[in-house]
Amino acid sequence: MQDSSTSTAHKPIKKVVVAGGGTAGWMAAALLQKVLHKEVEIELVESEDIGIVGVGEATIPPIQTFNQFLGVDEKEFLRETNGTIKLAIKFDNWKKQGDSYFHTFGAPGANLGFCNFQHYWLRAHHQGLTQSLWDFDINYLCCKSEVFNKINTQNPVYEVPYAYHFDSALYGRYLRKRAEKGGVKRTEGIIEHIQTDNETGYIQSLQLSNGTQIQGDLFIDCTGTRALLIQQTLGVEYEDWSNLLPANTALAVQTERFDKTLPYTRSIAHKAGWQWRIPLTHRNGNGIVFCSDYLSDEEAEQTLLGNLASAPVNDLRKISFKTGRTQKQWHKNVIAVGLSSGFLEPLESTSIHLIQSAIVRLLKLFPHQGIKQSAIDLYNEESKVEYETIRDFIVLHYVVNERDDSDFWHDMRALKLPHRLQQKIDVFKEVGTIFNDQHDIFRDASWLQVMMGQGIMPQDYHPAANVLPEQQLMDTMAKIATAKQQPMTQMLPHDEFIKKYVGV
Ligand code: FAD
Repeated sequence: MQDSSTSTAHKPIKKVVVAGGGTAGWMAAALLQKVLHKEVEIELVESEDIGIVGVGEATIPPIQTFNQFLGVDEKEFLRETNGTIKLAIKFDNWKKQGDSYFHTFGAPGANLGFCNFQHYWLRAHHQGLTQSLWDFDINYLCCKSEVFNKINTQNPVYEVPYAYHFDSALYGRYLRKRAEKGGVKRTEGIIEHIQTDNETGYIQSLQLSNGTQIQGDLFIDCTGTRALLIQQTLGVEYEDWSNLLPANTALAVQTERFDKTLPYTRSIAHKAGWQWRIPLTHRNGNGIVFCSDYLSDEEAEQTLLGNLASAPVNDLRKISFKTGRTQKQWHKNVIAVGLSSGFLEPLESTSIHLIQSAIVRLLKLFPHQGIKQSAIDLYNEESKVEYETIRDFIVLHYVVNERDDSDFWHDMRALKLPHRLQQKIDVFKEVGTIFNDQHDIFRDASWLQVMMGQGIMPQDYHPAANVLPEQQLMDTMAKIATAKQQPMTQMLPHDEFIKKYVGV
């Protein structure tokens, strides 16, 4: 498929314009500047009058790589963003009311060869092992004791993978400081008109309300759900996924800091949605995500306010959304990054990661000699699969449930699933095996924990788990459980760790 716009397409990229200065805009500007500062000029336009969405406080471990690549000092970053450590998400009431499980960033057990740990655990479980799968996971053990420390080890058995909770507005500010220092030009103003080339349809410039024109060769649309460039100007359509993820509203509120901050996010399921609790060092982030067909705003507000563990410090904010993605995330000379590229509810804290992976993908395919359709197509294919695998992982939490307290949970059980997800669930249920997709950011251990946590117990395990004689298997399980306890002696209560490490 050849793009008709060959004249502009072959123009070398000398100037990149980032439209929007939320988390997406500043992450994009900071990373592009770091890698491409010798090749291109970068200008970011944002409007303080419009502001940012201002939620988005929980992350997944690859954020560490992003920060490290930028040369961010972890202690300084945690201090500046009021950050805490995140080892897992605790899901309460998701399978059924009163039931809880953790999706940790760790991996239960150890590599025993032939097949994954869960097969050995399943066989041992059949033989009478009483420990749960999670008892073999250091992240879970740390969450249970509310402790953390950085363990210096090369042995994967002792690793404690982690991510962060942070104030996303402060993170944006922090990245802005770094990006501007590195040479990114920031322009304040409201984008009022967008000029396109009559022949190619490529964007040529953004016109601000004060008359300033900002020209560029490549535009990164980080204008949030407005999607000013990709949707409003280039007309790329939005693919609506509310048939699979019907939640369409969030109410967010900040509350006072807890006496003790937990090293994990809480996700508490309610009648027609779920509530998040994210602990920061100075306050908590809270909110409820729900579907307005099943729950009114007033009921949602009552549920949220009735389940806050500390007093509110600001007014409740309502955010409406439609789950889905733009059909193309790169079109002509515009790449949509952040909320302009789509929205998936924050159940698994994936939006900031999607920003990171979009920028990294763009860097891999960066069109410095001119925009090529082959790069656009590859970019779009990869982003589509990535979005879809995350969507499926989120749907999994809803569809496998045993709740009988509302039509919402009943209807979620009856969803017609995408083939790939249905197959993944069926295979796990029947033979205990998990298959990976190349672009799935959630690896086997994540799928395993959520499938088992939501109540799927495989009917079988891999025959390779029969390699060990019965007693040897039980001895091996006991040894692994003991090994997993070993790093616990080095752990500190989470707040003590933050205080010692960060100094706040
Ligand atoms: P925004 O923050 O909306 O930024 C848009 C920018 O564009 C702003 O600077 C704005 O001023 C500018 N702009 C718009 N129009 C114009 C114009 N005409 N002229 C000039 N400038 C303009 N993600 C996670 O990873 N973890 C979470 O825990 C999480 N929780 C969430 C909870 C909720 C309820 C919601 C809604 C989202 C959550 N997210 C989470 C997603 C996360 O908030 C976003 O991915 C992230 O903040 C990026 O937003 P953004 O930069 O794309 O958009």
